[in-house]
Amino acid sequence: MNPLAMTLLLAASLSLFSWSIGRRLLPLFVMHPEIRWDHPKERVKRFAVYALGQLRFFRRFERVHGVFHVMIFWGVLVVTLNFFQMVGRGYVKDWYLPGLRETGFGLFYFFAKDLATASIMLGTLLALGNRVIFRPPRMLHNLEAVVILLWIFGMMAMDLLYESTLFILSPGQAEEQTAFLGVWGMWALKGMGLTAQDPLTANLHAVGSWGHLILGFSFLNYLPYCKQFHELTSLPSIFMCRLTPRGALIRQDLEDEDALFGVGKIEEFSWKRGLDMYTCAECGRCRANCPAHLTGKPLSPMAVMMDEREHLKKKTPLMWRAALWKFKGQPDKAKEVLEQWQGEALVGGAISEEAIWACTTCGHCIASCPLLIEHVDHLIDLRRYLVQVESRFPRELTQVFKNWENMSNPWGLASNSRGDWAEGLNVCTPAENPNFEYLFYVGCAGCFDDRYKKVTIALTRLMQKAGVNFACLGNDEMCCGETARRLGNEYLAQHLINFNIEMWDTVGVKKIITACPHCYNTIKNEYPQFGKTYEVIHYTELISDLVRQGRLSGFQSFSGKGPVVYHDPCYLGRYNGLYDTPRQVARLVPGISLVEAERSGRTSFCCGGGGGRMWMEEKIGKRINAERCEKLLATGAKTIATACPYCMMMLDDAVKDKGLDGEVAVRDLAQLFADAVFNKV
Ligand code: SF4
Ligand code: SF4
Repeated sequence: MNPLAMTLLLAASLSLFSWSIGRRLLPLFVMHPEIRWDHPKERVKRFAVYALGQLRFFRRFERVHGVFHVMIFWGVLVVTLNFFQMVGRGYVKDWYLPGLRETGFGLFYFFAKDLATASIMLGTLLALGNRVIFRPPRMLHNLEAVVILLWIFGMMAMDLLYESTLFILSPGQAEEQTAFLGVWGMWALKGMGLTAQDPLTANLHAVGSWGHLILGFSFLNYLPYCKQFHELTSLPSIFMCRLTPRGALIRQDLEDEDALFGVGKIEEFSWKRGLDMYTCAECGRCRANCPAHLTGKPLSPMAVMMDEREHLKKKTPLMWRAALWKFKGQPDKAKEVLEQWQGEALVGGAISEEAIWACTTCGHCIASCPLLIEHVDHLIDLRRYLVQVESRFPRELTQVFKNWENMSNPWGLASNSRGDWAEGLNVCTPAENPNFEYLFYVGCAGCFDDRYKKVTIALTRLMQKAGVNFACLGNDEMCCGETARRLGNEYLAQHLINFNIEMWDTVGVKKIITACPHCYNTIKNEYPQFGKTYEVIHYTELISDLVRQGRLSGFQSFSGKGPVVYHDPCYLGRYNGLYDTPRQVARLVPGISLVEAERSGRTSFCCGGGGGRMWMEEKIGKRINAERCEKLLATGAKTIATACPYCMMMLDDAVKDKGLDGEVAVRDLAQLFADAVFNKV
C-alpha cells in the first residue's frame, strides 16, 4: 500500500468527519443543560446490559429480527480493531497491532475476527432479505436502509478478499492457523487458478485492502447524515440514559430564575433529548406497539423522533453560531442568534398538537426501544409548554383543570363529599386512629366514581376483615396530582403534591396503600422528587401478603362469569413491574379460569385512559378502549378483570358500546377477591 495515498485518505476522511460531527454535536451545546453522568457504576452496568449485551434484542417477541442486529453489532465491535491494523499496514507492510503478532491472543483474535466477519456478512444478508422480501410493517422501507446494509456487506467482502489473497501472496502467516475464513477464501481462489506469481492476485489484494479502507472511511463520513448515525450515538446515549424510575416524569424546576415551562423551541429540550433524536435508528419498534398509532391517531413515537431531528437539522446553522457565541462567553449573543429563526415552529409545526395530545403515556414505546429513548419525556415537555406558556390545550381540559383547582378532583364534585363513600363502614381518620400503620389513599376515582367506589368498599372490607391497621383522610384527602402532571400542568401538579406531603407529615404517614396504579406510581416514584419517600403498596401486593400470613382464608368458589381475562394496567405492569402479583390474587379465587390475551404482561396494550386521555375526547381513528376490548374478548372471556380505575372505566365503556353489557362483566380484582371472601359483596 502506498503511504502517501494512505495519508491523503486519512487526512481527507478525518477532516471531513470532524467537520460533520462538529455540525451534528455543536448544537447540543446550546440545548438545555442536564447532568447525565452521575452514578457511574449504575451507568456502566446498564451500558453492559443494554449496549454491549444487546438485551432488548433477545426478547421473546423479537424473534429473528433482533438476532440479525446482534450478529452485526457484535461483529462490528470485533472487526473494528482489524480496521486500525489495516490503516497501519498502509505504512508498514505486514504490520500488527501490539500483542497480535504470533501470540496466543493474536491467534484467538484472528479466529474471532473471521467469525465476526462471517457473522456480519450473514447478518446483513438476512436483514436485507427480511427488509426486501418480508417487509415487516414496523419498518420504514426506504432505499437508504438497503444501501447501508450493502455497504457494510461490501466492506466485509473486501476484507475477506484482502485476507484470502494475502495468504496466497505471503504463505506461512501465523494467523493462517486460525483465520479460517481467509483460508477458505484462499483455497477457493487457488481452486480458480490464482497463484502468488499471478499479477491478478496482487491486483485483487490491492482492491481488497483499498476497497475495505475506502468503504470504511466513506461509511464513517456518511454516518452523520443518515439514520445509521446511531452507530456512533447509541453507545453514549445508552450510557447516559435516565436512571430515575421509569414511571417518574422529570421534575420541572419552578423556583429557578432560568426555569423553562416546557419546551417550545428545539434548543429548550435538554441536550440528551437532542442525542435521542440522533440516536433513533428508525427501527419502528416503538410505533409498532403504540396504541395511538395503531388506532389511527396522528402520533407515532418514531415520527416524533425523526421530525424533531429534521427540525434540529434545519436549525443547525443558527445553533452552531449560537454555540460559538456561548463558547466565547457571550450567552446573550447566542440567544440573539437563536431568535433569528424564521422557520416552522416546533410545537404545532414540526410536531402537531394532535400528536402531542394523543399520547396515553402508556410507556410501551420506551419499553420497546432497544436504544432506551425516552419518548414520553419529549411529549410531556411539549405538553408543559402548551399548557403553561401558550395556555393551549383541548377544549374539554379547561373545565377539568378548573375542577382540580377548585375541588381537587377532575369531576368537580364537592370536595367535602370526598369521604362519603365510607359512610357506615367504620373507617377511621388519622385523628380517630393516630397509631395507624397504613394510610389508605383512596384517590379521586375511588372516592367519586360510582363504579370504582364499589372497589374502594370491597377493599376496605377486606382490610378490616384481615385486621389491617389503616386510616383514611376522608374529606381532607386531595388529588395526588398524577393526571394533571401528565397533562402538562406541572404547576398544578406540584401544588397538589406539596400540599399532600405537608398534610401527610402532620398526621405521620409512613406507609401508603393505594388501589389506583396511577396514584401508586406517582406517590412511589415521583413524590421522592419533592423530598418525601413513602413505602407504597398496591392492594394486590397487600392481599397477596395477607393471604400468605393467613389473615385472609376460606375462599368461596368463583361465582362470576367465566373465563376471566386479566388486563394489565400500564402503570402497574409496565412502569412498576407488577405482572405476576395481580394474577396470583386472581388465582386465589377457587375455580377461576384465567386466560391471557394476545398482548398481555410485558406486551400489554393500553386501555386508552392514561396520560389524561380519560378526560379528552377521542375523535380520530378507532377508539383505543374498543381495540383493547376486542382483543380481550377474543380470548372467549366473559369477565374482564383489571386493577385500575381508568382501565375499568375505559373497558366498561367499551363493553357497553359493543352492546355486551350483561353478557360480559368488567370487574376489579379486589371485587372478584372480595366475592370469594364474603361470598359476594
Ligand atoms: S407512551 Fe404509549 S401512546 Fe404515548 S407515544 Fe409511547 S406508545 Fe404511544
Ligand atoms: S425510537 Fe427507538 S424503537 Fe422507535 S424507531 Fe427509534 S430506535 Fe426504534
